Amino acid sequence: MSTLKRFASYYRYEWKLFLVDMICACLIAGMDLVFPIVTRMFMKDLIPNLQLRLIVVWIGLLVLMYFLRLILQYIVDYWGHVVGVRMEYRMRKDLFSHLQTMDFQFFDNTRVGHLMSRIVNDLRDVSELAHHGPEDLFIASLMLIGSFVYLVNINVQLTLIVFIFVPFIAWYAIAMRHRMSEAFRAERERIAEVNADLENSLSGMRVAKSYTNEDYEMNRFDNANVNFRDARERAYKHMAEYTSGLNFLTNLLNVAVLGAGGLYMYHGLIDMADLTAYLMFISFFLQPIRRLTAFTQQYQQGMSGFNRFLELMDIEPEIVDRPDAAPLDDVEGRIELRNVSFEYQERSPVLYDVNLEIAPGKTVALVGPSGGGKTTLCHLIPRFYDVTQGEILIDGQDVRDMQLYSLRKNIGLVQQDVFLFTGSIRDNILYGNPTASDHEVIAAAKSADIHDFVMGLPEQYDTYVGERGVMLSGGQKQRISIARVFLKNPPILILDEATSSLDNATEFIIQESLDKLSEGRTTLIIAHRLSTIKNADVIVVLEDGRIVEQGSHDELLASDGVYAKLYTSQFKAEASDVVA
Ligand code: ADP
Ligand code: MG
Repeated sequence: MSTLKRFASYYRYEWKLFLVDMICACLIAGMDLVFPIVTRMFMKDLIPNLQLRLIVVWIGLLVLMYFLRLILQYIVDYWGHVVGVRMEYRMRKDLFSHLQTMDFQFFDNTRVGHLMSRIVNDLRDVSELAHHGPEDLFIASLMLIGSFVYLVNINVQLTLIVFIFVPFIAWYAIAMRHRMSEAFRAERERIAEVNADLENSLSGMRVAKSYTNEDYEMNRFDNANVNFRDARERAYKHMAEYTSGLNFLTNLLNVAVLGAGGLYMYHGLIDMADLTAYLMFISFFLQPIRRLTAFTQQYQQGMSGFNRFLELMDIEPEIVDRPDAAPLDDVEGRIELRNVSFEYQERSPVLYDVNLEIAPGKTVALVGPSGGGKTTLCHLIPRFYDVTQGEILIDGQDVRDMQLYSLRKNIGLVQQDVFLFTGSIRDNILYGNPTASDHEVIAAAKSADIHDFVMGLPEQYDTYVGERGVMLSGGQKQRISIARVFLKNPPILILDEATSSLDNATEFIIQESLDKLSEGRTTLIIAHRLSTIKNADVIVVLEDGRIVEQGSHDELLASDGVYAKLYTSQFKAEASDVVA
């Protein structure tokens, strides 16, 4: 589908309002042509022939007409804009909903600031274009044709002189159009950069301060800001060339009409009334030209925004439901990885031929050096990424044959970094199951051992958690995220270094909540401190994307391999900590 067609398709929801808007706009254009016509009639007929009664009637009619025009203009300015605003609203909605279907890969490779810029800024000019665009194009053409027909009737030659300017003006407008559109597109890209840098710098403000790197951040921001300033200056340069050139041409037109009209009158080819009508028409004539100018400008800006919108809309997520995907019900919880290999980028595999089986309700621990692929493995189970080779089965069914929604509903994930949404503590726990009752929220909080703490807060469960839960400690945030999973109550649980960032004492207490959480659930646990996973049914050692050892704690210690070495070195370190 062409861009324009896709743009037009957004009119379908608002077509009634749009139609009303267009009709009103046409009527306005027609009314604007009436005044010079009536003026000419006054000068030619009514005044010389002393038709006092008709003069009064016409004046009355004009006043009436302008009252009507008042209403029409109100409709165009208000409801016309509403059409644009609603279209913009719908595009924004479509875009957000489309972004939600995108997979992890997309968000790995896209800066948040860029996306925000596209959702917020890029669509802003679209609403202007949506309503003014067709209106201006239509009215301008109508006025040009209307005035041409009328003027030709008065004097063919003089009209031709006037209209000789039209191709020049059109040529100039088109010639400048391309440059301006390029400049505005560049400007948009730069503002997206600024947004992205800003998002990054502001989120990292605390780090910047702790390293006293304010100057460095200032420079970085300034670079983006300077680029944006320059791009904007360039855009306005082209805009100025465009508008000043056009105004010059229209001024020449004025002068030409005055000159030619004067000559014609001098030679008695037209009379005073005709010349007045011409001069008046020129000013009305400028209006459609100005409208067309405005239109090209709006078109550039609106369309460059719309094109960027389409670029995003056209990215198809790779991880989607197959047409025959089945829901995952009554999960027993058996997880099998069969010959699983995975790579983020082609030819740089992260997992090689991994085979792993977790029996229902059992706990498997995944250990190994950082960067070994543990998190990656966890992300394959809820299909955040798809395996490159092999398959992952839950209860004997390939995860790629399941409905994504039901697959993810059945898996609870607790990670090292807790993200708390802006809102109350209750909202954040409810995120695990928005339909849960207060009673259930409290039960979940109690299970996660956070209830007493929350009750001690001034506003208890309504306490507002800032953008990133600034006022909570790491352990408290982690507890909220655990309560969230209790509320979600999934049969399968993945704990990815959930306690790694916490101190030993906090880790020890939170471990109790996690143990409670994993009761009766198939659990895959990754832990940095091996003491926390000693009791797992099976311990799997993953190194450089390969499983190198597998067995119970005692078995692995007995075999004296990688795990045994890791364990003794950690044990010694912790023992010396205690001594110190
Ligand atoms: P672990 O959790 O064991 O520390 P990860 O699974 O996080 O290891 O990382 C394994 C490898 O995959 C690392 O080399 C890392 O650089 C790479 N990696 C992790 N996430 C991504 C990603 N989103 N895109 C590309 N490479 C990634
Ligand atoms: Mg990891």
